[in-house]
Amino acid sequence: MPKLQQVTILGATGTIGVNTLDVISQHPNRFAVFALTANQNVDTLFDQCQKFSPLYAVMLEEKAADQLSQKLKQSGSATEVLCGMAALEFVSAHEKVDAVMAAIVGAAGLKPAIAAANAGKRILLANKETLVMAGSIFMQAVKQGGATLLPIDSEHNAIFQVMPQDKGSNLADGGVKKILLTASGGPFRQASAEELKRVSLKQALNHPNWVMGPKITIDSATLMNKGLEVIEARWLFNASPDQIEVVVHPQSVIHSMVEYVDGSVLAQLGNPDMRTPIAYALGYPERLQSGVSSLDLFKIARLDFEAPDTKKFPCLRLAFNALNAGGNAAAIMNAANEVAVEAFIKEKISFTDIPVLIESVLENSSIKPVTDLEMLVSSDLEARDSANAWMAKAI
Ligand code: NAD
Ligand code: MG
Repeated sequence: MPKLQQVTILGATGTIGVNTLDVISQHPNRFAVFALTANQNVDTLFDQCQKFSPLYAVMLEEKAADQLSQKLKQSGSATEVLCGMAALEFVSAHEKVDAVMAAIVGAAGLKPAIAAANAGKRILLANKETLVMAGSIFMQAVKQGGATLLPIDSEHNAIFQVMPQDKGSNLADGGVKKILLTASGGPFRQASAEELKRVSLKQALNHPNWVMGPKITIDSATLMNKGLEVIEARWLFNASPDQIEVVVHPQSVIHSMVEYVDGSVLAQLGNPDMRTPIAYALGYPERLQSGVSSLDLFKIARLDFEAPDTKKFPCLRLAFNALNAGGNAAAIMNAANEVAVEAFIKEKISFTDIPVLIESVLENSSIKPVTDLEMLVSSDLEARDSANAWMAKAI
């Protein structure tokens, strides 16, 4: 019987957090929950604490933490409630923790993920924004801290599964020619450029294949999600931009592929259910039950592929440009995108304003080489100010 693994789940109340707890609950002799964290959703975190009895529960907001603390005390729970960013870092780096599920959304997930890396944890990385914002620094922290990094994003988890495990320091050493990163194309794959101008929030939140949090769902509709994933793949697999090709595959059955120099293309397939990559990373190198049903190929019947349309979906082009520009460009793009998506969700800007805003922020920023984490945090904040200034003018 393997040792009981202590797991911290950052962003426990989100889609990935809930799916992670679902997989963990299927393996009570294998995993124990050390800490659960959330932004401000007291009721969900309270229910999760009742079910999983973590040692710690962390809320970003103080008021929410006070409420949770009271509710837990009244229920006789022994879970200790903490609050703030330092507490998120504390439960990520604690010596008793074996694995950290990094599933906070956005740049807010960066510091706790770095804390887990520095402390040499097994990091299950869902928070792609960490790699987009600070890929070089995070990968260095993983190396220096002796951490094990396992991708949760379904595409990167698929690539990891079909990559040679002893590939050396670059893809060519492992005989890999390129990565074929699949994309569903989102809900507006077949919409005309005119129709895109008028899409509603409700339409954009209706992803054809995946159930996800609101930010990543909008990113999937603009194809920025694929752009973020291109940058994520660059860092995870030490790939150059021309070794990453985006392939639109509307059924989301193939989660990504790797092409080798001999012409072989290896793919990972499965139902679109995040419990597969989560179980893979929790159990690695063993395979665990995830609760995901078998793939019914007869029902799927066919798999389609097409090239992405970067004219209709400029976000994908902006992400490739930011990757090629290097330095703090991706951090700036990421921050501008977070502001734009939030504004779209609050119905302050239109769907097609999103790439216009991001491009404007990038054009008005100075792209500099990355020196340290603080510099990237400043670039992120400056880009947010610039994005807000754009909106003040535009609205
Ligand atoms: P979500 O919105 O459903 O959940 C986000 C979680 O983060 C919540 O628990 C929330 O309380 C917490 N959070 C939000 N803002 C915070 C802040 N400022 N500080 C601390 N905690 C905060 O999001 P999700 O869909 O679960 O996605 C989480 C991450 O995983 C994202 O980076 C996303 O891109 C990535 N991801 C998600 C999926 C998916 O299927 N949902 C797939 C691949 C990658
Ligand atoms: Mg993905």
